[in-house]
Amino acid sequence: MEVIDSFLSEREQKNLLRRLKPAQSRGDGKICFEGNSYFDFSSNDYLNISTHKKMKKAAKDAIDAFPVSASASRLLSGDLDLFHILEDRVARFKGKEKALVFNSGYQANCGIMGSLCERGDIVICDRLSHASILDGIQLSGAKLFRYRHNDIGHLGGFLKRERSNYKECFIVTETVFSMDGDKPPLREIAALRLKYGCRIIVDEAHATGIFGANGSGVVEEEGITDEIDVIMGTFSKALGSFGAYVASSRKTIDYLVNRARSFIYSTALPPSVIAADLTALDIIKEEPYRRRSLLDNSDFFRKRLAERGFDVRGASQIVPLILGDPSRAMVVSDILKERGFWVLPVRPPTVPQGESRLRFSLNYSHGKETIEDLIDEICEIVGRSESRL
Ligand SMILES: *Cc1c(COP(=O)(O)O)cnc(C)c1O
Repeated sequence: MEVIDSFLSEREQKNLLRRLKPAQSRGDGKICFEGNSYFDFSSNDYLNISTHKKMKKAAKDAIDAFPVSASASRLLSGDLDLFHILEDRVARFKGKEKALVFNSGYQANCGIMGSLCERGDIVICDRLSHASILDGIQLSGAKLFRYRHNDIGHLGGFLKRERSNYKECFIVTETVFSMDGDKPPLREIAALRLKYGCRIIVDEAHATGIFGANGSGVVEEEGITDEIDVIMGTFSKALGSFGAYVASSRKTIDYLVNRARSFIYSTALPPSVIAADLTALDIIKEEPYRRRSLLDNSDFFRKRLAERGFDVRGASQIVPLILGDPSRAMVVSDILKERGFWVLPVRPPTVPQGESRLRFSLNYSHGKETIEDLIDEICEIVGRSESRL
């Protein structure tokens, strides 16, 4: 096929062809490629719960107690008590009336946007929104407007000019952004809800298990649960398992059960995954020191780099180090690999021109010593890479 050939060769020429790269093992902050072990600064297993003894035991016990597969959609014969126990737990965790489990965050966002929003509505989302949010909006047929990243003035100005031209209005934001590691001005966004008659949908994929007194997320931390209409998040990042949830009003959840095609037309998650999801919620409750230590170390990492004159951003366990030029980001990443640190460069079009970066995902197993070593390496390499470029 000519289209395929030309696509692949163009990507290859531009040095942008993505390839899969199998690791021999990973977990607890380490990753192993081709016999070499690295400190893993690229995984979303922020609390290292995916290797927790209790998680493995819960999944194994569920495999013994239930079939390996759910074997059908929830609306056919795939439903089990276990799903409802998890959904009740999530609803309480998030402070909402009811919750629904989806097979993944991607499917949740496609289902939420695709069924709550319709032609004639407007969905206003941050310019850095995750692909699953954008894909869901496309499915819905609603009009899309993207405001400049975390720019409340841009968002407010658009609402003032355009709100009256649409039926329903939805504002969508992540509560921790995956590439920038920063948080939106959520209270200010919430203040626009009543003023302009909007509904607010948030994606807590990177915040669940990390922020808030109970580890529920940024909505909990900000104390504005009642002002956020729909809260989604995943079990696949800090919670170390798989699947996703939506928490909202009873009616909204009942509506999703009847309308969300990614929920209706897909086999339910295996019971062993649901058991692990439940156990992850236990661990979040029982071991708050994991998230405290992670956030503490992330602050430490960011402060130390800033002291040494680097452009670091964010306010979470995701720490972008802006290096500007894409080849500079590539070189620094390659040398860090030689030194045993696995961290990936992020280049345009994922981020704006001139903002190529290394994106560090810290996790609980990375102690202060490892982080200090990493900072020393970064300082040494960036000094040296100037002359190599
Ligand atoms: C990872 C992610 C998702 C998708 O979740 P999966 O469970 O991996 O499909 C959705 N939204 C955001 C912001 C994410 O980072």
